[in-house]
Amino acid sequence: MAEKSSETLMEKIVSLCKRRGFVFPSSEIYGGFAATYDFGPLGFLLKKNIEKVWRRWNVEGREDMVEIEGAIFMHPRVWEASGHVGGFADLLVEDLVTHKRYRADHVIEDAKIMDNAGALKAEEADTIIKDNKLKSPDGNPLSPAKRFNLLVKTHLGPIEDDTTVVYLKGESCQNIYVDWKPVLESTHRKLPFGIAQIGKAFRNEITVKNFIFRTREFEQMDIQYFCRPEEADQWYEYWKKNRQDFYTEAMGFSPARVKWRQHDPDERAFYAKDAWDVQYQFGEIGFQEIEGVHHRGNYDLTQHQKFSGTDLSYFDEATGERFLPYIVECSGGFNRLFLATLFEFYREDGDRKMLSFPPKLAPYKAAVFPLLKNKPELVEKAKNVYENLRKKYMIAWDDRGNIGKRYYAQDEIGTPYCITIDFDTLEHGDVTVRDRDTAKQERVKIEDLEKFIAEKLE
Ligand code: ATP
Repeated sequence: MAEKSSETLMEKIVSLCKRRGFVFPSSEIYGGFAATYDFGPLGFLLKKNIEKVWRRWNVEGREDMVEIEGAIFMHPRVWEASGHVGGFADLLVEDLVTHKRYRADHVIEDAKIMDNAGALKAEEADTIIKDNKLKSPDGNPLSPAKRFNLLVKTHLGPIEDDTTVVYLKGESCQNIYVDWKPVLESTHRKLPFGIAQIGKAFRNEITVKNFIFRTREFEQMDIQYFCRPEEADQWYEYWKKNRQDFYTEAMGFSPARVKWRQHDPDERAFYAKDAWDVQYQFGEIGFQEIEGVHHRGNYDLTQHQKFSGTDLSYFDEATGERFLPYIVECSGGFNRLFLATLFEFYREDGDRKMLSFPPKLAPYKAAVFPLLKNKPELVEKAKNVYENLRKKYMIAWDDRGNIGKRYYAQDEIGTPYCITIDFDTLEHGDVTVRDRDTAKQERVKIEDLEKFIAEKLE
């Protein structure tokens, strides 16, 4: 399919998202607010469908996984134990003229000096910036790099002082570590097993860019898999394979657009034995991280045990051993998965734009039209079909314009099937079902429509 305009793929997707109600800039009537976005009616439906696929693959389809939903506010000591209060920081440089702020690692990476500059110390970043005469994107000199903590801080309670400081979750997974013991005890689980969670995270990111790719509020989709220390390597390999399959099989992404990047030893946390990023190819912004798969050892439980004074060990009844389990973490970002889904399934053919979602992801599973809006017998029959299918599935109704325009509009929001009620329907009880991807039409009996949709959803 030919692409002809000079708009980037990202620009096309951003504009489609806004036009059709997938994603809007938040507070737009006030001029928008700091890269925050709202999911509109179609975005909300797509979001729920993506979550459903994630949940089916990672939780419901497995017997060794449970899911929780933790609170956003947590005891402030959690963030001391996790290391976020002391060390959750990026290097910030400031344009000395405009006072705009940038991440030093991004300035260095954008200048193609190195691929991953995230582990540099402030002095190292300064030397690289100086030696390569790097400037801000506006061409101005940059300040020395300084560390900037990303935790979003606020106060809870009627007094604003040091005793009421709380943090919004810097990463969602902390509920899982803190809840590990009550989950274990209430579910009577034995190792190995995992705890999953889809939850909000907040980071005071220095720069936010690329639409919803990097925002200050986002959701993470976590799996924390608890196992015996000597089995951790084997589970780590298992989860790497599982994540590849999740993206290519469950989400239907093309394998060529999913790539893996191993963290350099100086890039990963001191306690981590290994760390890989799953990357997706986002058009012209290239391969970017969508999920991190981390071999975390027992660091998280050790820290929370130390800071809380609560025993978090596991007792193995079979061997009589007591120990802290190791954790393999798979932490994906919902926004990035949502954006990758749009990139993956966006197609165009001349002026025609299409989201070629698999039926399980499509916001609407089908759209129902009366051939003509001004023929009450057609409208009545079509309404009847629409109401019936709506009892089970999200179904769109459209009676505006001609059939061609309606097809075009449904293609653009990814509706896989368009069902038209015409004069033959009144006589024979069948309808025309048009397939979004092949544009082929077939006649289907009204009583078989539900089964037809159910089969496509499998
Ligand atoms: P990055 O290097 O892009 O800042 P990260 O390595 O800090 O990401 P993790 O802390 O490993 O990210 O978080 C796990 C996942 O959460 C990431 O793979 C990403 O999908 C998502 N994520 C992290 N930060 C953001 C953000 N600011 N906006 C949207 N998603 C994010």
